[in-house]
Amino acid sequence: MRRFEYVKDFEQPDVLLPNTWIVVRIDGRGFHKLSDHYAFVKPNDRRALDLMNAAAVEVMKDLPDLCIAYGVSDEYRKLVTTIVSTFTAYYIHLWSIYFPSTPLQPPNLPSFDGRAVIYPSSRILRDYMSWRQVDCHINNLYNTTFWTMVLQGGMSNTDAEQELKGTVSADKNEILFKRFGINYNNEEEIYKKGSVLYRQYELQDPKEAPASQEEDSLPEAKQSRSQQDKLKKLRRKAQVVVDHIDIIKDDFWERRPWILS
Ligand code: ATP
Ligand code: ATP
Ligand code: MG
Ligand code: MG
Ligand code: MG
Repeated sequence: MRRFEYVKDFEQPDVLLPNTWIVVRIDGRGFHKLSDHYAFVKPNDRRALDLMNAAAVEVMKDLPDLCIAYGVSDEYRKLVTTIVSTFTAYYIHLWSIYFPSTPLQPPNLPSFDGRAVIYPSSRILRDYMSWRQVDCHINNLYNTTFWTMVLQGGMSNTDAEQELKGTVSADKNEILFKRFGINYNNEEEIYKKGSVLYRQYELQDPKEAPASQEEDSLPEAKQSRSQQDKLKKLRRKAQVVVDHIDIIKDDFWERRPWILS
């Protein structure tokens, strides 16, 4: 019925800029409640983190254009909905592997929100990643101290929260060490640094990594079709690795130049 077709015009384009970095941020919806319901271990439930990482690895494998952030594309909504729904699908599919004796019970089902932000340069993208890792450290130091005071120190949630108000990192490190004999530096890297996922290429042959091929330094739009297909195939073949490593310093990026090329 032609006279109804005008409604399509309400679907306004939300175009992305070419040659920019797109970050799609995924965040669990109401995970405070969900983690209570399924009794996640505090402060860090390793199974839940491994499940998030496993779902993210599958998304990277499913969408070869993803590097660490996302490359170039045409549309906001398509991008966000594809990534978030793929992530959710794998999260639920993999749940029983990480929580074998805790079946999912409706209505307590995991879901996620997603949003895209555009960053115009690699430097700013790196600053974004640095901001996330700093946030991870600050949150984890707080959570580790808080839950140690509650679970090992027998304090109430309110008392622990009250005592931690206004403290700086050094204070929290001291509480952990003096009262509980815990050296924060010895906590697991996955908790302190978070998880970074990227494609790993055969390092012994640098020509295998896409960054080393001359035409690849051109903007994606200027590469030939065959070159693009070749790159895509390389990306599909590459292994996706999960690392817990400093991404603030230059070293991580200098050793893996293909990630942001
Ligand atoms: P809302 O869900 O109301 O839109 P939000 O999710 O952006 O807000 P909060 O839920 O208060 O904000 O954020 C909680 C955590 O998300 C904080 O640790 C904050 O640093 C982090 N955060 C905020 N903005 C971003 C972002 N753009 N990317 C990644 N993490 C973010
Ligand atoms: P919103 O829907 O606004 O994002 P939210 O309840 O998901 O609300 P977040 O700020 O995203 O709020 O916080 C997520 C919460 O989920 C954390 O505060 C923590 O309690 C819990 N959580 C998530 N992952 C884990 C984990 N691996 N181990 C323990 N707790 C976790
Ligand atoms: Mg969150
Ligand atoms: Mg939120
Ligand atoms: Mg959340």
